[in-house]
Amino acid sequence: MNSAATARVVLKPRRALPFFHRHPWVFAGAIREIDGAPEPGDVVDLVTHQGEFVARGLFNPDSNIRVRLYTWNESESLDVDFWRGRVDEAVRLRERLFGEATPQSAHRLVFSESDGLSGLTVDRYGDWLTVQMTSRALATRRDELVELLSGRLRPKGIWLRTEKGVRDLEGLEIEDGLLFGEEPPRPLVVEEHGVRFGIDLVAGQKTGFYLDQRDNRLALARHVGGHRVLDAFCYSGGFGLNALVNGGAKQVVAVDSSEAALELAAANAELNGVRDRVEFRKADVFDTLTGLGEAGERFETVVLDPPKMTRHRKGVEKALKGYFRLNRSALDLLEPGGILVTCTCSGLVPREDFLGMLSSVAQHADRRVQVLEARGAALDHPVSVACLETDYLQCLVCRVS
Ligand code: SAH
Repeated sequence: MNSAATARVVLKPRRALPFFHRHPWVFAGAIREIDGAPEPGDVVDLVTHQGEFVARGLFNPDSNIRVRLYTWNESESLDVDFWRGRVDEAVRLRERLFGEATPQSAHRLVFSESDGLSGLTVDRYGDWLTVQMTSRALATRRDELVELLSGRLRPKGIWLRTEKGVRDLEGLEIEDGLLFGEEPPRPLVVEEHGVRFGIDLVAGQKTGFYLDQRDNRLALARHVGGHRVLDAFCYSGGFGLNALVNGGAKQVVAVDSSEAALELAAANAELNGVRDRVEFRKADVFDTLTGLGEAGERFETVVLDPPKMTRHRKGVEKALKGYFRLNRSALDLLEPGGILVTCTCSGLVPREDFLGMLSSVAQHADRRVQVLEARGAALDHPVSVACLETDYLQCLVCRVS
């Protein structure tokens, strides 16, 4: 793979500022011309319209993100040593956070833009790694990356997961499958704050588990002693099981629309010896919240962890309406003094708008809402200040009078 720049991508006048601020995505609309004929995955230099060097990145003619930037240092080439250095830096942070890996470890080792590796996400589940590639340009270096990951981390296997939509967004034709070593056991059992979770790396959602909510699940546990907890959008039981095992909750009602998710959650409840304290419901949460309210059911804690509600700026207003509906219904289910844990992973929803939504909900329901904790994603999902899209997860722990 060629690591020297094969072409220059020239910016339009007055479009260079975000890239001097080190945002890593150069959209097609910011580009005046391309000086050369780069192939997908080739190294290119980004220059101002006056020819001044800005940054160096990888080119993809088929993505709206035409160039992903990796270095702002003109003397640094994007060769294998560069990628090794970036991966090593990301891994060292996690080693510092989590210590030596064990067969029960579950954390994110590399988080794309957050770690200066736009387009690459790597998770560790015990002795296995999952790799997600969201950039076609970086994916041209897949073998190189797999080799350096296996060399550095010595996993038993590496499994490739592909997010829906990358084919359309990036022109990237890849299929899930084994990249290295042995296939992972199904389920693979990991541990989070002493709670055991069986994970299906091959068919589970995301890369198998919602690692970003790890510390928010523990934050919930602090409040739920003796509570009846509604875990809405429960997936494999993350919040509910933490509430039972670490928080001493009395009972959990866990709701998800996916049968596969509920099967995982039930198996996990079994694994932790709390199956008799969880009631599972396969249903649409939007309908269920209303139904439960009308049936007069009440909870001391409600957790709302819905999936991403918008991928586009245009959809933000509609998403906020959806959050309003959910949170409004949740308040009707909460006993006075109850706890609401409400999340959004729609990165485009600004923090103040999410809080504003909650303020409208409180007013509409005539309840007082206090935010006890405004949280983000777990420590292995750092936020890059150059790319605020990495600040996508909000989790508010609230008391509702
Ligand atoms: N709280 C979970 C992660 C939730 S991910 C954890 O800690 O691991 C979002 C979940 O919402 C998915 O499991 C998905 O199946 C479910 N889901 C999506 N739309 C839904 C709907 N309208 N009603 C119920 N569940 C839904």
